[in-house]
Amino acid sequence: MKAVVVNQASTGVEVVEHELPRVGHGEALVKVEYCGVCHTDLHVAHGDFGQVPGRILGHEGIGIVTELGEGVTSLKVGDRVSIAWFFEGCGHCEYCTTGRETLCRSVKNAGYSVDGGMSEYAVVTADYAVKVPEGLDPAQASSITCAGVTTYKAIKEAGAAPGQWIAIYGAGGLGNLAVQYAKKVFNAHVVAVDINADKLELAKEVGADLTVNGREVDDVAAYIQEKTGGCHGVVVTAVSKVAFNQAIDSVRAGGTVVAVGLPSEYMELSIVKTVLDGIRVVGSLVGTRKDLEEAFEFGAQGLVVPVVETVPVETAPDVFQEMEEGKIQGRKVLDFTR
Ligand code: NAD
Ligand code: ZN
Ligand code: ZN
Repeated sequence: MKAVVVNQASTGVEVVEHELPRVGHGEALVKVEYCGVCHTDLHVAHGDFGQVPGRILGHEGIGIVTELGEGVTSLKVGDRVSIAWFFEGCGHCEYCTTGRETLCRSVKNAGYSVDGGMSEYAVVTADYAVKVPEGLDPAQASSITCAGVTTYKAIKEAGAAPGQWIAIYGAGGLGNLAVQYAKKVFNAHVVAVDINADKLELAKEVGADLTVNGREVDDVAAYIQEKTGGCHGVVVTAVSKVAFNQAIDSVRAGGTVVAVGLPSEYMELSIVKTVLDGIRVVGSLVGTRKDLEEAFEFGAQGLVVPVVETVPVETAPDVFQEMEEGKIQGRKVLDFTR
């Protein structure tokens, strides 16, 4: 079968012929339809979290169950399911039993610690694959499997309430969905910040009330403070510490900054401001199975419409290059159906 893997030098990706995976106890075989390319795949391909040459990438996978291993009761053949970054938890640790399963210390992550969704067939742990609801386009569902659930969860972590101001730093694959969830699901007022005008154009189209170009506005945080009185919450998806530092200065007293993007850098945090303004800074990692179920449902209802472009699997190396150059609008999704 065709698969997109990390190359041997861990500098990028290659499309290879790979042997079919075998289904074990509690697992299901999935015939992959679509798999989105997330910026995290680029981090993995470059070895940012440790080198994994030969690993099949992809954690925005969607496909149809074609075979069940022994002992599976939660899925049936024909179900459409996700292949997500949160691939499997241990099920019994303090995180797994308290609604924080993505923090499980023995977690498996698709497309990083185990093979992911960028191949014609993939194996999932049946109890951890989330069903895609009727009425949700599978290519759009792929984008919700990481970008959607991650931003939906991050906005929850920001404590967003109707009528409040939420800023989204980075209006790329995650960011445009963050704008939609914040606006359409949480009924917030939304500021989108990016350094590319085309990304901000898209953010406006999908519901941003205010857009700010970091390359054009001198003091981004001061501008946001002036226009909004300070945001109640900020979600940072930008792969740049500049954005994280601006985010801290964009919140009002009592506000929350949710860190989502993964630049290999440190952010600066004024201790005095953090204490005197009572600012909360939290990290947020994808979402639980329940979060994904909810995030899918808002897609199925048409409240959130992922912006996706399907492309042939063979173009994967080009897509990763475009991702690095910041040229993608919304998501490019590898199409395994053609
Ligand atoms: P993307 O490349 O599609 O989008 C990043 C956006 O940030 C681009 O639009 C870019 O123009 C913008 N940007 C860059 N510098 C900026 C700045 N200084 N200010 C404002 N915007 C700026 O990437 P993506 O797929 O949306 O992923 C974003 C990040 O989130 C990656 O680091 C990825 O690994 C991470 N991520 C984290 C989680 C999680 O669970 N925490 C899940 C998925 C992805
Ligand atoms: Zn991702
Ligand atoms: Zn666990």
